[in-house]
Amino acid sequence: MTTDEKAVQKYSAEWVRQQAIANGATWLPNHDCACCGVYVGYVISGEQVFYRSACGCGWSPQQPSSFREIAEWLAMQSADEIRDRIMERLR
Ligand SMILES: [Zn+2]
Repeated sequence: MTTDEKAVQKYSAEWVRQQAIANGATWLPNHDCACCGVYVGYVISGEQVFYRSACGCGWSPQQPSSFREIAEWLAMQSADEIRDRIMERLR
């Protein structure tokens, strides 16, 4: 672990970015659609992040997003347990 990695605060945008890179992740599900059960979430492509809201109910284009938006979403969760559970879905 480098000094830079140690300095990064857990659940920050930079931390999320490092986790994504370390895991070679391309997908972080947000939640499943209440109607069809298909997951919507964040598509990660290198340094770029998009929010994919399309599910079995309808198609919609991916929206530009960011590691900051993921960090803001994590910050909205009520407990670190939940944040950790979300990040375990990173793949
Ligand atoms: Zn749906």
